[in-house]
Amino acid sequence: MSLWGRLNRTFYPVKIIIFPSYCQLCGQLLKHEAERVICSDCLKKLEIKQSPSCPVCGRFYFNNLPGDYLCGECLGNPPPFDWHRSLGLYDGRLKEIILIFKYQGYEVLSRPLGRLAYEKLSADQGLSGVDFIVPVPLHKEREKKRGFNQSELLSREISKLSSIPVMKSNLIKTKPTPAQVSLEAAERKSNLRGVFKVKRPEKIAGRTLLLIDDVFTTGSTIKECTKELKKAGAREVRVITLARAQK
Ligand SMILES: [Zn+2]
Ligand SMILES: [Zn+2]
Repeated sequence: MSLWGRLNRTFYPVKIIIFPSYCQLCGQLLKHEAERVICSDCLKKLEIKQSPSCPVCGRFYFNNLPGDYLCGECLGNPPPFDWHRSLGLYDGRLKEIILIFKYQGYEVLSRPLGRLAYEKLSADQGLSGVDFIVPVPLHKEREKKRGFNQSELLSREISKLSSIPVMKSNLIKTKPTPAQVSLEAAERKSNLRGVFKVKRPEKIAGRTLLLIDDVFTTGSTIKECTKELKKAGAREVRVITLARAQK
């Protein structure tokens, strides 16, 4: 047996202790080391929603009308970003996986989730001409508490697959804000006003950027981030999120 093989055998029990051996969603035994937290069956069963959707904000339509058309909001009050897509609705299995990823500390889930986001971006021609990937920042205290910024981990994964560099620590969050989920829509907007800043606008001027966040709820966070990036001279801001909360 090779040295590597022997080491692998010796350390096999350690791996089981480090990662849960049962799928956090369905409870089945994880057979492959690559699965680690969620089994490949559960990942395959994630419903990645394809069109029809609004070609600008990505709102999903649940009707049988042919083709993609602008939604009422984009017609009446267009968002500052140019393009947004999500993998699916913030519901069911997708929601459960995102919650496990963010709040149970399973950073490794950024790999399969980042890959799914990359595949969605590729299918919808969202990557062509993008100069930099920009993660939505967390305030440094929040990041320290959580131990990671989920948007940054997803950005790194998409960067690996697309070879587009991540622009880190340029868009920053200057003060902590109460969690958006606890607020009403109007409060969400004022809660975030002026909290994002671009440190080096010269790196952004004239660039096409891909902004990454985990969940799109009212869109306040990505709208505020986009306004700052556009103020710094960004030519185009596209956005991808894992899921979209929508009534
Ligand atoms: Zn499973
Ligand atoms: Zn729209």
